[in-house]
Amino acid sequence: MNETVVVIGLGGMGSAAAYHLASRGATVVGLERFHPAHDRGSSHGGSRIIRQAYFEDPAYVPLLLRAYELWDALGADTGREVHRITGGLYAGPETSVTVDGSLRAAREYDLRHDVLGADEIPRRFPGFAPASDQIGVYEHLAGFARPEETVRAHLELAERAGADLRFGIEVLDWADTGDSVRVTTDQGVVHADRLVVCPGAWAPELLADLKTGIRIERQVMYWFDLAPTAPRMDDSPIYIHETDVGEQIYGFPAIDGPDGGVKTAFFRKGVDCSPDTIDRVVHGDEAQAMLDRVRRLIPGVGSSDDAASAMLHAATCMYSTTPDHDFVIARHPRHERVAVACGFSGHGFKFVPVVGEILADLVLEGTTRHPIGIFDPRRPALAAQTAGMGT
Ligand SMILES: Cc1cc2nc3c(=O)[nH]c(=O)nc-3n(C[C@H](O)[C@H](O)[C@H](O)COP(=O)(O)OP(=O)(O)OC[C@H]3O[C@@H](n4cnc5c(N)ncnc54)[C@H](O)[C@@H]3O)c2cc1C
Repeated sequence: MNETVVVIGLGGMGSAAAYHLASRGATVVGLERFHPAHDRGSSHGGSRIIRQAYFEDPAYVPLLLRAYELWDALGADTGREVHRITGGLYAGPETSVTVDGSLRAAREYDLRHDVLGADEIPRRFPGFAPASDQIGVYEHLAGFARPEETVRAHLELAERAGADLRFGIEVLDWADTGDSVRVTTDQGVVHADRLVVCPGAWAPELLADLKTGIRIERQVMYWFDLAPTAPRMDDSPIYIHETDVGEQIYGFPAIDGPDGGVKTAFFRKGVDCSPDTIDRVVHGDEAQAMLDRVRRLIPGVGSSDDAASAMLHAATCMYSTTPDHDFVIARHPRHERVAVACGFSGHGFKFVPVVGEILADLVLEGTTRHPIGIFDPRRPALAAQTAGMGT
């Protein structure tokens, strides 16, 4: 085979696609407007939760089982720590999405887990203290990925397999000409047999014709220090915590040692934005709300009650959220030379390696053995939403 494939966007998904395509013998040209592993999109901030007991929908589990195999291979092939297994604690009311959904997926797929009462949680995981009417599910094989390391690892392997990766180049437009594709950039035109589009938060521009109803949301990640008397959190599990009104937060152990602090964030508490309008400043009141909230699970977070003193660092990031929170991964419905991956709705990173594999399948073979029916851009949930928007 000697197909030439352009990959637009070399973030999480695009870097994985570039690698899988190049490793199968395609001639790959990757185009990225920023530098490798940059912090302007959705794949930065040092850590991303990976887990298999998927509360969102057990239909995702087969993809996660394959993603884990590929995470291991990626680390072994590059010698980089792209992921680490820490275990994962999901706490909340017994009927919450976090607890009930995780348990459902764990049972359906026989994933190793324990159910813990509120009083057992602090005994097993010092520092965690959920309300007495909450319970926990502990998943043994949860952990975190390092997004920048993952992107670098895929780029490194892609280049090793012969990919031509170009940074600092902006794609202005692409077109299917019938027997090839034409990609127009700010530095000239590139022609190819096939195209993969992984635009992250730029999907509303580069894939406007798909009408996916994707909204771009500003999200904030916070790193706090710990109270001097609090248990260290170097080897703690990753966690997700839900209140009785359904508000979810998540966080990580001190993955870079105590001086790096512990990272925490709200899940899906964002305001709409665009890559051009996002407010990159993190404000005092939002940091205070985060500190107060995380202390409802881990009282020892923060050496001070005042977030301004306890916060080490904060950063913004963008979610690309579809109306039903499921991804968009498919051959383009009207252009069979084109495959697309977008709308990862704040939970896509753990799938990065398998999405790369799927995109290579779709664009080189026209089909994939992986179950991606729920990611079809023509699904009713998206069509209904975009019809309602009048677009
Ligand atoms: C705060 C936060 C926390 C998250 N936590 C988790 C988590 O714990 N677990 C999890 O699984 N997922 C998590 N996610 C989601 C996950 O990180 C994303 O789903 C994933 O990173 C999306 O990857 P992507 O390739 O679609 O986007 P990106 O990595 O942003 O890549 C898109 C790329 O396209 C490039 N591009 C766009 N337009 C152009 C153009 N015109 N020309 C050239 N290049 C272009 C961009 O520069 C960018 O590099 C989180 C996301 C955020 C923001």
